[in-house]
Amino acid sequence: VVRAEMFGQLTSGLEAAWTKLKGEEVLTKENIVEPMRDIRRALLEADVSLPVVRRFVQAVSDQAVGVGLIRGVKPDQQLVKIVNDELVKLMGGEVSELVFSKSGPTVILLAGLQGVGKTTLCAKLANYLKKQGKSSMLIAGDVYRPAAIDQLVNLGEQVGVPVYTAGTEVKPSEIAKQGLEEAKKKKIDVVIMDTAGRLQIDKGMMDELKEVKKVLNPTEVLLVVDAMTGQEAAALVTTFNVEIGITGAILTKLDGDSRGGAALSVKEVSGKPIKLVGRGERMEDLEPFYPDRMAGRILGMGDVLSFVEKAQEVMRQEDAEELQKKIMSAKFDFNDFLKQTRAVARMGSMTRVIGMIPGMGKVTPAQVREAEKNLKLMEAMIEAMTPEEREKPELLAESPDRRRRIAKDSGKTEQQVSQLVAQLFQMRVRMKNLMGIMEGGSIPTLSN
Ligand code: GDP
Repeated sequence: VVRAEMFGQLTSGLEAAWTKLKGEEVLTKENIVEPMRDIRRALLEADVSLPVVRRFVQAVSDQAVGVGLIRGVKPDQQLVKIVNDELVKLMGGEVSELVFSKSGPTVILLAGLQGVGKTTLCAKLANYLKKQGKSSMLIAGDVYRPAAIDQLVNLGEQVGVPVYTAGTEVKPSEIAKQGLEEAKKKKIDVVIMDTAGRLQIDKGMMDELKEVKKVLNPTEVLLVVDAMTGQEAAALVTTFNVEIGITGAILTKLDGDSRGGAALSVKEVSGKPIKLVGRGERMEDLEPFYPDRMAGRILGMGDVLSFVEKAQEVMRQEDAEELQKKIMSAKFDFNDFLKQTRAVARMGSMTRVIGMIPGMGKVTPAQVREAEKNLKLMEAMIEAMTPEEREKPELLAESPDRRRRIAKDSGKTEQQVSQLVAQLFQMRVRMKNLMGIMEGGSIPTLSN
């Protein structure tokens, strides 16, 4: 297969992981070791930063081990789906749209190092906005390179938008002020300010940007980064955000042989979304950054993804119906109990990831650990039950001998087994009450 798609190397690196699962029945702790190693390697080779790779691999393995069987879905397909969902999450989940000002012109301040494609981007962006019916004006703020001003004027002509210039003798913050006034007079919708890049970050550039920012009070401050620089791009976004405060990033040169590290690291490392991506030198080559489409492109397995989604949907429906039937007939048994508890524990490991986001740390790691420990304890005891006992918890309620045997086989105390049995019956009562309320009836009285 010839891969002209971007991130081709990452795609084939990940493919190695799926291949290793061919012929397996389920995902287990053991059989995901090799595939997880492939995923880790593929991401590192794509120049994703190490802490990001570690968290990603951890999140994927947690889910892979806990994932239930879905009829008709093979383990490798299941893993593809899990990786896809985590990739989407990693890249910020939702598309992050440009924000427009409700009063007066929207001001977009563009920053970035030299050669990343900033000047080209000014014109691309104006062209992009034009298609949305918005007028724009470019302001030439790169006073250190007369060629940059000429380039902007040329590009402006090419896409048919005015360019405000004031030569190279005026301070950028002054040019910004004049340009903005001009735009207001002309009732322009969006003002796009080009600024001077440097080969590296230096104080002069940051100070200048701060000054321009103060004058413009921009709606968007976007850092333009070159996708070819991989995880370095994510570090740059972080630095610019700390120094001047930005609202997002634009990735350029995604059409080149960039490996994916920038696209995958920026949001996670800096907390700032990628809003737009440039995929070529032409004026049309600019588009919004869609995390889901990007993940889809990386995996190159759209059909597998939609198949797994459908299967999951069907199963959720069947599960819910079956569970409802069981509860109504008080048949809720240890198999259901285990299923439920596992689902809750899976949510626990999700909250752990959510917990890393500041302000969302409601569930403490200690609580999650506690829930996971409980699950292990219960699993051990339920595994020591016979299939008949699992389906008929009454047997255990009635027989201390059975409880004693389970305690012994699972290495737990009789008291712990009794507690588990009691818990199941409590759950039956709670669920039955809940169903009664949901059905609109009165709370049913319970015979057991
Ligand atoms: P600046 O120094 O940041 O203003 O960079 P320029 O806008 O002058 O662009 C530097 C070079 O990168 C030019 O040759 C552009 O044509 C090229 N370039 C810009 N954006 C892209 C892109 O998305 N893809 C590719 N392949 N080349 C790009």
